[in-house]
Amino acid sequence: MDEPVASHQLTPKPRVGDHYLLLDHACGRCPSCEEGWTVWCEQPTAGQPLCWVPAEHSSSEVSSLLKAVSAFLSARVESKAVVLAIAPEGGVTILDGLTLVHSGPVLLASDPRDPSVKSRLAGLNEAGRADAVVSLLSGRDAVRAVKRGGTVCLPDTAVEMPTVTELAQREVRLVGPRDLAELVKKVGRQSVEQLFERKGASSLPLR
Ligand SMILES: [Zn+2]
Repeated sequence: MDEPVASHQLTPKPRVGDHYLLLDHACGRCPSCEEGWTVWCEQPTAGQPLCWVPAEHSSSEVSSLLKAVSAFLSARVESKAVVLAIAPEGGVTILDGLTLVHSGPVLLASDPRDPSVKSRLAGLNEAGRADAVVSLLSGRDAVRAVKRGGTVCLPDTAVEMPTVTELAQREVRLVGPRDLAELVKKVGRQSVEQLFERKGASSLPLR
Protein backbone atom coordinates (compact mmCIF):
# COMPACT_ATOMS: atom_id res chain seq x y z
CA MET A 1 0.00 0.00 0.00
CA ASP A 2 2.89 2.33 -0.70
CA GLU A 3 1.63 3.91 -3.91
CA PRO A 4 -1.63 5.81 -4.24
CA VAL A 5 -3.11 3.55 -6.92
CA ALA A 6 -6.74 2.50 -7.18
CA SER A 7 -7.91 -1.08 -7.54
CA HIS A 8 -9.55 -2.02 -10.84
CA GLN A 9 -10.96 -5.35 -9.66
CA LEU A 10 -14.59 -4.18 -9.64
CA THR A 11 -16.58 -2.03 -12.07
CA PRO A 12 -20.31 -1.59 -12.63
CA LYS A 13 -21.94 -2.96 -15.78
CA PRO A 14 -24.60 -0.64 -17.25
CA ARG A 15 -27.89 -0.70 -15.38
CA VAL A 16 -30.67 -3.22 -15.83
CA GLY A 17 -33.80 -1.54 -14.48
CA ASP A 18 -33.04 -0.18 -11.02
CA HIS A 19 -29.99 -2.42 -10.42
CA TYR A 20 -26.53 -2.72 -11.89
CA LEU A 21 -24.21 -5.69 -11.98
CA LEU A 22 -20.82 -5.50 -10.30
CA LEU A 23 -18.14 -7.18 -12.42
CA ASP A 24 -15.00 -8.85 -11.07
CA HIS A 25 -12.10 -8.19 -13.47
CA ALA A 26 -9.35 -10.14 -11.70
CA CYS A 27 -7.48 -12.31 -14.22
CA GLY A 28 -6.30 -14.93 -11.72
CA ARG A 29 -2.95 -15.32 -13.54
CA CYS A 30 -0.89 -12.13 -13.08
CA PRO A 31 1.70 -11.92 -10.25
CA SER A 32 -0.72 -10.03 -7.94
CA CYS A 33 -3.53 -12.54 -8.52
CA GLU A 34 -1.20 -15.51 -8.11
CA GLU A 35 -0.19 -14.20 -4.72
CA GLY A 36 -3.84 -13.83 -3.71
CA TRP A 37 -3.98 -10.03 -4.06
CA THR A 38 -6.59 -10.03 -6.80
CA VAL A 39 -7.76 -6.58 -5.69
CA TRP A 40 -4.52 -5.31 -7.25
CA CYS A 41 -4.81 -7.36 -10.49
CA GLU A 42 -2.37 -6.04 -13.08
CA GLN A 43 -4.14 -7.42 -16.18
CA PRO A 44 -7.89 -6.92 -15.67
CA THR A 45 -10.11 -9.07 -17.90
CA ALA A 46 -13.54 -8.28 -19.41
CA GLY A 47 -15.01 -9.35 -16.09
CA GLN A 48 -17.27 -11.93 -14.46
CA PRO A 49 -20.60 -11.06 -12.79
CA LEU A 50 -20.16 -10.80 -9.02
CA CYS A 51 -23.39 -9.41 -7.54
CA TRP A 52 -26.32 -7.06 -8.12
CA VAL A 53 -26.47 -3.63 -6.51
CA PRO A 54 -29.41 -1.19 -6.40
CA ALA A 55 -28.67 1.87 -8.54
CA GLU A 56 -29.17 4.16 -5.52
CA HIS A 57 -25.69 3.13 -4.31
CA SER A 58 -22.70 4.26 -6.36
CA SER A 59 -20.22 1.56 -7.35
CA SER A 60 -17.46 3.50 -5.58
CA GLU A 61 -19.48 3.46 -2.34
CA VAL A 62 -20.14 -0.27 -2.72
CA SER A 63 -16.59 -1.25 -3.65
CA SER A 64 -15.24 0.89 -0.82
CA LEU A 65 -17.38 -1.05 1.65
CA LEU A 66 -16.40 -4.41 0.13
CA LYS A 67 -12.73 -3.41 0.22
CA ALA A 68 -12.99 -2.40 3.88
CA VAL A 69 -14.63 -5.71 4.84
CA SER A 70 -12.09 -7.60 2.69
CA ALA A 71 -9.29 -5.80 4.54
CA PHE A 72 -10.85 -6.83 7.85
CA LEU A 73 -11.13 -10.42 6.64
CA SER A 74 -7.49 -10.55 5.57
CA ALA A 75 -6.42 -9.08 8.94
CA ARG A 76 -7.69 -12.28 10.64
CA VAL A 77 -8.42 -10.62 13.97
CA GLU A 78 -9.54 -12.79 16.90
CA SER A 79 -13.21 -13.73 16.90
CA LYS A 80 -13.83 -11.96 20.24
CA ALA A 81 -12.02 -8.74 19.26
CA VAL A 82 -13.80 -5.41 19.80
CA VAL A 83 -14.17 -3.78 16.40
CA LEU A 84 -14.94 -0.13 15.71
CA ALA A 85 -16.17 0.90 12.26
CA ILE A 86 -15.74 4.54 11.28
CA ALA A 87 -18.12 5.45 8.46
CA PRO A 88 -20.27 8.34 7.30
CA GLU A 89 -23.82 8.50 8.63
CA GLY A 90 -26.48 7.17 6.28
CA GLY A 91 -25.61 5.25 3.14
CA VAL A 92 -24.72 1.59 3.12
CA THR A 93 -24.01 0.32 6.60
CA ILE A 94 -20.61 -1.23 7.09
CA LEU A 95 -21.86 -2.45 10.46
CA ASP A 96 -23.95 -5.14 8.74
CA GLY A 97 -21.04 -6.04 6.45
CA LEU A 98 -18.65 -6.55 9.35
CA THR A 99 -21.24 -8.53 11.30
CA LEU A 100 -21.26 -11.05 8.43
CA VAL A 101 -17.58 -11.84 9.02
CA HIS A 102 -17.07 -11.11 12.74
CA SER A 103 -18.79 -12.72 15.74
CA GLY A 104 -17.45 -10.29 18.37
CA PRO A 105 -18.81 -6.82 19.17
CA VAL A 106 -18.85 -4.26 16.34
CA LEU A 107 -19.49 -0.57 17.03
CA LEU A 108 -20.25 2.09 14.45
CA ALA A 109 -19.30 5.77 14.66
CA SER A 110 -18.91 8.63 12.24
CA ASP A 111 -16.53 10.29 14.71
CA PRO A 112 -14.44 8.07 17.05
CA ARG A 113 -14.04 11.06 19.43
CA ASP A 114 -17.76 10.96 20.17
CA PRO A 115 -18.10 10.56 24.00
CA SER A 116 -20.86 7.93 23.66
CA VAL A 117 -18.54 5.79 21.50
CA LYS A 118 -15.73 6.18 24.01
CA SER A 119 -17.94 5.14 26.93
CA ARG A 120 -19.19 2.08 25.02
CA LEU A 121 -15.59 1.08 24.23
CA ALA A 122 -14.65 1.59 27.88
CA GLY A 123 -17.38 -0.88 28.82
CA LEU A 124 -16.12 -3.49 26.36
CA ASN A 125 -12.45 -3.75 27.27
CA GLU A 126 -9.86 -2.48 29.74
CA ALA A 127 -7.94 -0.42 27.21
CA GLY A 128 -11.10 1.54 26.42
CA ARG A 129 -10.13 1.34 22.78
CA ALA A 130 -11.04 -0.94 19.93
CA ASP A 131 -8.82 -3.96 19.15
CA ALA A 132 -9.37 -3.30 15.47
CA VAL A 133 -10.70 -0.26 13.61
CA VAL A 134 -12.14 -0.37 10.10
CA SER A 135 -12.43 3.08 8.55
CA LEU A 136 -14.20 4.33 5.45
CA LEU A 137 -13.23 7.85 6.47
CA SER A 138 -9.87 8.88 7.90
CA GLY A 139 -7.08 6.36 8.31
CA ARG A 140 -5.42 8.74 10.75
CA ASP A 141 -8.51 8.85 12.97
CA ALA A 142 -8.54 5.06 12.87
CA VAL A 143 -4.95 4.88 14.12
CA ARG A 144 -5.77 7.28 16.98
CA ALA A 145 -8.86 5.25 17.94
CA VAL A 146 -7.29 1.78 17.99
CA LYS A 147 -5.49 0.30 21.00
CA ARG A 148 -1.69 0.18 21.06
CA GLY A 149 -0.61 -2.82 19.00
CA GLY A 150 -4.03 -2.99 17.36
CA THR A 151 -5.10 -3.42 13.75
CA VAL A 152 -6.39 -0.77 11.35
CA CYS A 153 -8.19 -1.92 8.20
CA LEU A 154 -8.63 0.50 5.31
CA PRO A 155 -10.39 0.02 1.96
CA ASP A 156 -7.53 1.47 -0.12
CA THR A 157 -5.36 4.54 -0.37
CA ALA A 158 -8.31 6.84 -1.11
CA VAL A 159 -8.84 7.58 2.60
CA GLU A 160 -6.53 9.87 4.56
CA MET A 161 -3.49 7.71 5.23
CA PRO A 162 -1.64 7.66 8.55
CA THR A 163 2.06 8.44 8.47
CA VAL A 164 4.70 5.79 9.09
CA THR A 165 5.55 7.60 12.34
CA GLU A 166 1.95 7.51 13.56
CA LEU A 167 1.81 3.77 12.86
CA ALA A 168 5.15 3.09 14.54
CA GLN A 169 4.37 5.17 17.63
CA ARG A 170 1.25 3.16 18.36
CA GLU A 171 2.64 -0.13 16.99
CA VAL A 172 -0.37 -0.35 14.72
CA ARG A 173 -0.70 -2.94 11.97
CA LEU A 174 -2.22 -1.53 8.78
CA VAL A 175 -4.16 -3.97 6.57
CA GLY A 176 -5.67 -3.41 3.12
CA PRO A 177 -8.09 -5.39 0.94
CA ARG A 178 -7.02 -8.63 -0.68
CA ASP A 179 -9.68 -10.36 -2.78
CA LEU A 180 -13.18 -8.93 -3.17
CA ALA A 181 -14.62 -11.91 -5.04
CA GLU A 182 -13.39 -14.23 -2.28
CA LEU A 183 -15.29 -12.13 0.26
CA VAL A 184 -18.51 -12.42 -1.74
CA LYS A 185 -18.02 -16.19 -2.09
CA LYS A 186 -17.27 -16.58 1.61
CA VAL A 187 -20.36 -14.83 2.95
CA GLY A 188 -22.60 -15.66 -0.03
CA ARG A 189 -23.76 -13.43 -2.86
CA GLN A 190 -27.27 -13.06 -1.47
CA SER A 191 -25.98 -11.93 1.94
CA VAL A 192 -23.83 -9.30 0.22
CA GLU A 193 -26.71 -8.15 -1.99
CA GLN A 194 -28.93 -7.94 1.08
CA LEU A 195 -26.52 -5.38 2.57
CA PHE A 196 -27.44 -2.98 -0.19
CA GLU A 197 -31.18 -3.70 -0.44
CA ARG A 198 -33.40 -1.49 1.63
CA LYS A 199 -36.62 -3.14 0.58
CA GLY A 200 -35.53 -6.77 0.91
CA ALA A 201 -36.01 -7.43 -2.82
CA SER A 202 -35.49 -10.98 -4.03
CA SER A 203 -32.19 -11.83 -5.67
CA LEU A 204 -31.81 -11.48 -9.44
CA PRO A 205 -30.06 -14.17 -11.52
CA LEU A 206 -26.46 -13.37 -12.51
CA ARG A 207 -25.99 -12.81 -16.23
ZN1 LIG B 1 -4.61 -10.56 -12.26
